[in-house]
Amino acid sequence: MAVALITGASQGIGACIAKRLAKDGWDIAINHYPSDGDKAKAEGVAEECRASGVRAEIFAADVSSFDQCAELVKSVKDAFGSLDALVNNAGITKDTLLTLMTEEQYDSVIAVNQKSVFNMMKPTIKIMMKQKHGAVVNMASVAGLYGNPGQFNYSASKAAIIGMTMSAAKEVGARNIRVNAVAPGLIKTPMTDKLTDEQKAKIFDQIALKRFGEVEEIASVVSFLLSDNASYITGQTIEISGGLSM
Ligand code: NAP
Repeated sequence: MAVALITGASQGIGACIAKRLAKDGWDIAINHYPSDGDKAKAEGVAEECRASGVRAEIFAADVSSFDQCAELVKSVKDAFGSLDALVNNAGITKDTLLTLMTEEQYDSVIAVNQKSVFNMMKPTIKIMMKQKHGAVVNMASVAGLYGNPGQFNYSASKAAIIGMTMSAAKEVGARNIRVNAVAPGLIKTPMTDKLTDEQKAKIFDQIALKRFGEVEEIASVVSFLLSDNASYITGQTIEISGGLSM
């Protein structure tokens, strides 16, 4: 069975992607942040994945750590025997205006959202090159395409992911490895629960479909991009925002 590794999959979009890919028939490696709370939630997600009749295991690692990511990828390969798909989903926000932003707020968002993609892709792509196949989906954001007030750090990290996706796609396409990204708009998760009603109302006004997105609507596009139905798609960023940017 083909194996998919999803980072930050103990809740929100990542958890939904794990469950959707399990329904698609992938064996699932669930990464979670190394804390007791995340471990318990990841166990619950793994249990739900197993209900689809596939294998699912959990793996603790802080994706901002280069060494922990190398260990994570090795552990998944050792446990499952292959690694066929990677979803770089883990992410954080530390929103504030540029003039108020601390160095810690900038550096930590870049480390978790952006450097993690390097940390994860380097060891994963080496395995996929040996296997002569593989697919990666990176989690960008509309903030990386159009910017967002209060998200200087987050927008920087997500814009970088779009460039990294295109560069990697060009490097590894000849090895039968595809690399794409998705750029969600406002999706209902614990991350966006933190927004004020005023912030949500401002975003809502710009959405053509006049509703916020559901996690399943991200998972279905990730499922497509990892499948053979997307066999001629690489280096692309697909916006999933209900028409927020038109
Ligand atoms: P979420 O509910 O906060 O989930 C993010 C997950 O990443 C959490 O499980 C979190 O664990 C984990 N994580 C954070 N730092 C980590 C680290 N250093 N190592 C490993 N795991 C870590 O957020 P979400 O809304 O599902 O977001 C998922 C992805 O979609 C993110 O990349 C986000 O930027 C992107 N996105 C979301 C939206 C949206 O509207 N929700 C829009 C565009 C893009 P903890 O709970 O312990 O922090």
